[in-house]
Amino acid sequence: MIAKIDLKNLSEIELESYFEKKGEPKFRAQQLIRWLYKEKVSSFHEMTNFSKSVREALEKEAYMSRFFLKQKKISQDGTLKFLFELEDEETIETVLMPYEDRNTLCISTQVGCRMGCTFCLTAKQGLKRQLKASEILNQVIEVEKLLKSGEVKLPSFSKKDKITNVVMMGMGEAFDNFDNVLQAIHFMTKDIALELAPKRVTVSTSGLVPKIKELGEKTKVNLAVSLNASHNKTRSEIMPVNKPYPIEKLIQETKKFSSQYKQRKVMLEYVMMKDVNDTENDALELVKLLKGSNLKVNLIPFNEHSELSFKQSSLDRLQQFQDILHRNKVFSFIRWSKGRDVSAACGQLRSDVIKQ
Ligand code: SAH
Ligand code: SF4
Repeated sequence: MIAKIDLKNLSEIELESYFEKKGEPKFRAQQLIRWLYKEKVSSFHEMTNFSKSVREALEKEAYMSRFFLKQKKISQDGTLKFLFELEDEETIETVLMPYEDRNTLCISTQVGCRMGCTFCLTAKQGLKRQLKASEILNQVIEVEKLLKSGEVKLPSFSKKDKITNVVMMGMGEAFDNFDNVLQAIHFMTKDIALELAPKRVTVSTSGLVPKIKELGEKTKVNLAVSLNASHNKTRSEIMPVNKPYPIEKLIQETKKFSSQYKQRKVMLEYVMMKDVNDTENDALELVKLLKGSNLKVNLIPFNEHSELSFKQSSLDRLQQFQDILHRNKVFSFIRWSKGRDVSAACGQLRSDVIKQ
């Protein structure tokens, strides 16, 4: 027996040729995309503009993958963490962060990660496998469905009833699963699909430099770069990716992206770790790197974990660091992670059942 294909893994061109081979017009692909992503149907019967024979053929040859919601945690600050089970029983985490004016979904792009950053819990599991395009998209689809059915309720301070923003900052390195990420972005931002404006989608990278340019050329989404240190010695110690792609190259490419695509947001993420990257000298080096560019920095107080020896910078250090940046006209924001009480914060995601 031939295995059925998951329609959510097919690109637009593949869907078109699927229908063409059946002697059906190309526009069936567009109709199908609408059913899959906009209407989010779960059975072929619901595809009422397809003939019975098309629906029967689809039933025989294809399916639409779903996730199984294994666990859900709600933080005191309204953040929701979902643990989804995949077809092969691997699990991934997805986090919904409600704000007054937006609901941001933080999605995973891999099961685990192979980049080996020493301060990150996801790194500890290594890379188990890549997520398929369908699995990246299903995180958005399933959470939307949970919101729509009322099974998951947003806190009353949130004025929006849907996901308005997506950030690829969950488990995994998006640029290490680039083709599937690109396909997922395509359907996320397509009009008759998930319909998110590209300016509301952000990809975060630890610094696989050549892919920055490609992201620029192939999409219209925003870029976040996890810098986390301002000189090569420290960065190479905590982020092995810095050896093949050192800071100067990373910053150069990021600046290029930012000046070429003025409409898109570009952020540098800087996780503040006590005595690792939070000294006056670190701040001054950061100024040297960024002066004259309009790159902005998010200072993220490190989220501690019993399995990691790193500590959070003190409030004084955070403030001093930020003051040095501001005195030198480098703009920064201090970003406290949401959902820390349910381990939903940056760097706290991994794929096991949450023991709490
Ligand atoms: N792989 C991508 C996206 C996932 S990590 C990347 O590295 O950018 C998302 C963010 O969480 C990164 O900026 C990373 O530096 C940060 N992070 C990892 N561990 C953290 C921790 N314990 N506390 C705070 N931020 C952390
Ligand atoms: Fe991977 Fe990002 Fe964690 Fe580094 S910080 S190990 S790139 S998930």
